[in-house]
Amino acid sequence: MNSKGFIRKTKQRELILSVLRSTKSHPTADWIYQEVRKEMPNISLGTVYRNLKTLTEMGEILELSYGSTYSRFDGNSEYHYHFVCEQCGRVYDLGLPVNDVINGQIAEEYGVSVSRHRLEFYGTCKACLALSEEELTAVK
Ligand code: ZN
Ligand code: MN
Repeated sequence: MNSKGFIRKTKQRELILSVLRSTKSHPTADWIYQEVRKEMPNISLGTVYRNLKTLTEMGEILELSYGSTYSRFDGNSEYHYHFVCEQCGRVYDLGLPVNDVINGQIAEEYGVSVSRHRLEFYGTCKACLALSEEELTAVK
């Protein structure tokens, strides 16, 4: 690759990273693509996907996959827990300290080596709870 190509690739990656770090919403690749296009109109969705994969491998970002739905991306690569709203699909960061004790407990009990664990909380977020209360009041 010539140096111009290298600079372009670096700029693309930096822009994707800064878009992702500017939000706490854990966006999808498509949302990131729409934002990045505002500054780099010629960038392709494939390039955005490739860069997200590279950034994940570099440990700069986290990919959160929720089974059948699209992956969400997190600009905060420090391991932390999430709350997922089953009504609106929003993903919230939790300040709950990561429980390292259970890793040791599982290792001891099953004779395995634990590198990390995943813990997700599901339910209805505050915003959706407020909405459903509004609806209830409207009915009365
Ligand atoms: Zn919600
Ligand atoms: Mn997060």
